[in-house]
Amino acid sequence: MGREKGILIVVSGFSGSGKGTIMNRLLEEHPDTYALSISATTRPPRPGEAHGREYFFVSTDEFESMIARQELIEYAKYVNNYYGTPKEYVSQQLELGKDVILEIEIQGALKVKEAFPDTLLLFVTPPSAEELRSRLLGRGTEEAPIVASRLSRAWQEAQGVEAYDYLIVNDQLEECVQKVHAIIQNEHARMARNGSVIEAIRAGLKAFAKGE
Ligand code: ADP
Ligand code: 5GP
Repeated sequence: MGREKGILIVVSGFSGSGKGTIMNRLLEEHPDTYALSISATTRPPRPGEAHGREYFFVSTDEFESMIARQELIEYAKYVNNYYGTPKEYVSQQLELGKDVILEIEIQGALKVKEAFPDTLLLFVTPPSAEELRSRLLGRGTEEAPIVASRLSRAWQEAQGVEAYDYLIVNDQLEECVQKVHAIIQNEHARMARNGSVIEAIRAGLKAFAKGE
C-alpha cells in the first residue's frame, strides 16, 4: 500500500547534546526514508563544514532578504546569529513521501508546530548537565565564552521542553538512533495520519455490505 505524505519532524536539544551525530547516523542507515532540511545561517562555518551541506552560510543582508521574500518556514536568533528553514526543499520532500527532519532550536520548533500542528517534536538531551558540558568542550569547535553562552542558553531551553512530544536521552548513541527511528515509524500508524487508508477500506466494506 502506498505511503501517505511524509511526516514533518522537529529535533531540538541542547547544543552539544548529540543531535547532529544522531541525525547523521539516521540518514546513513535510512537514506530513502528521511530527508534532512538544510538551514540558512549567518554564523560562520566551523572547520569541516561546507556551504549547502551543513548550512547555507549567508550574510545578514542575504538572510534579511530571505525573510522579506517569505522564503523561510521559520527563523530565530540564537546566540547572536540568525538561523532559518527554507520552505521549498521541505515541501518538495514531504510530497515525495519522505519524513523530513528539521534540526532547529525551541523558538523555531514552536513556530513550526503552530503553522503545522501535526509536526512531531523530539527533544534530545544528554544523560546529565555535566555530560553536556564535557561534550561541548570535547567537540572543541567553540571558544570557552561561546561554550558558556551555549550552556546558559541550554538552561533557558530546559524550561520549555514540556512542549515536545518525546524526550530522547542520548546516552548510548546506537540505541538512541534506533529509538528515534522507532518513534518516527510508529507515528505513521497513528489513526489521525491514516485518513485515506481508512476511507478506502470503509468504501470497500460498504460495497460488500451492499452485496456488490
Ligand atoms: P549537537 O548537534 O547537538 O550540537 P553534536 O552532534 O555536535 O551535538 O555532538 C556534540 C559532541 O558530543 C560531539 O563531539 C559528538 O561526537 C559527541 N557525542 C554525540 N553523541 C554522543 C554519545 N551518545 N556519547 C558520547 N559522545 C557523544
Ligand atoms: P549550531 O550553531 O550549533 O549549528 O546551531 C545552533 C542552534 O541553532 C541549534 O540549536 C540548532 O538546532 C539551531 N538551528 C539550526 N538551524 C536552525 C533553523 O533553521 N531554525 C532555527 N530556529 N534554529 C536552527
